[in-house]
Amino acid sequence: MSDAQKSRSNPNEYAKAALQMMEKKGIPPKPNNFAVWYRYFSGAYPELSRTLDVILEAGLPFTEERNAEIYDRFLGVTLDEDFLNDATLRVETELKKLMTYLEEAGDDAQAYGDTLSVVSGELASGDGRQDIRAVLEQVIAAPRHMEDRNQVLEARLKESAHEIESLKEDVESLRHEAMTDALTGVANRKLFDEEIRIGAAEALDRKMPLTLLMIDIDHFKSFNDTHGHQVGDQVLRFVARILKSCVRGEDLTARYGGEEFSIVLRDTNLVNGAKVGEHVRNQVSKKAVVNRATGKSLGTITISVGAAEFIPGESVENLIERADEALYAAKNKGRNRVEMGVAEADAQPEAQQAHT
Ligand code: GH3
Ligand code: MG
Ligand code: MG
Repeated sequence: MSDAQKSRSNPNEYAKAALQMMEKKGIPPKPNNFAVWYRYFSGAYPELSRTLDVILEAGLPFTEERNAEIYDRFLGVTLDEDFLNDATLRVETELKKLMTYLEEAGDDAQAYGDTLSVVSGELASGDGRQDIRAVLEQVIAAPRHMEDRNQVLEARLKESAHEIESLKEDVESLRHEAMTDALTGVANRKLFDEEIRIGAAEALDRKMPLTLLMIDIDHFKSFNDTHGHQVGDQVLRFVARILKSCVRGEDLTARYGGEEFSIVLRDTNLVNGAKVGEHVRNQVSKKAVVNRATGKSLGTITISVGAAEFIPGESVENLIERADEALYAAKNKGRNRVEMGVAEADAQPEAQQAHT
């Protein structure tokens, strides 16, 4: 391990050192490169550090190919998403700081140059002594040279900032894609699992209600059998669109699986959640499904809805189960209706104790 590595001991220091090294060696501030140099300073990958030391000592340039090769060899091609986001953010923050600094430095250099020009003009027209003029020319030349350099550096950094910005957009659109159901465009199961957990934690923390709606299309199998799977897919899109249009922006509509959807209603109690469910059910049932290809009306379809309110302390799985039970009750009672889940006694230890 080099001295540079030994003198540093925390992630911020590693990040700073990595960025300084990248700046010094003209290595593009891309997340993969950052990942390599971050680990060089953290010493987490001794083999990687040794290899980089050899390259540094030999004074070899860090070309695009070499950077990629080092990355692939030691860190593999899969970069964990959290790390990627984190790295992009760090590089971006650091770049912004550098840009500000350079802009200030640029202004200073300009002001300095202007002042010296005036002084030089006065002196030169005065006594005409060649040695003083020569010295002043040199003094003036230095900051001008600095300005040129700053402009080049600034342009390069702006380019990098632009590159990082588009990289961040790529990462965000990839993330969005990974969390969206391809058929209906609503959130997928993965995002639902994440959001329900976040929602439950928030409800517990802020003592706010949270209601979950589980929604299932009625007799969908026979609809598919009659009209075909492709028309069935259109119905899934149709239902998803209506669900989305019936809830607020902060509520999450997701395709739970197959022909089942779920809606997470934050800051909403059971009674109000059931009202949302009723509104959704009503909207779906009163709109005719039209076959896009033929323009022919296929009649109406209906949905059944189960609603359950989060009981502080219960598991997310338990909440989903209770909403599912309510949904089955809605099916059993004839479909095209909303049922509210009853809190299980064992899911409510405090209430149970209060009664004994
Ligand atoms: P119920 O009222 O009890 O919910 O009856 P159902 O026919 O809707 O219930 P069942 O669970 O028996 O059938 C669900 C059907 O949903 C089976 C399958 O054909 C259909 N389905 C599930 N996923 C998709 C999909 O992605 N596209 C299409 N077109 N159909 C799907
Ligand atoms: Mg079903
Ligand atoms: Mg169904």
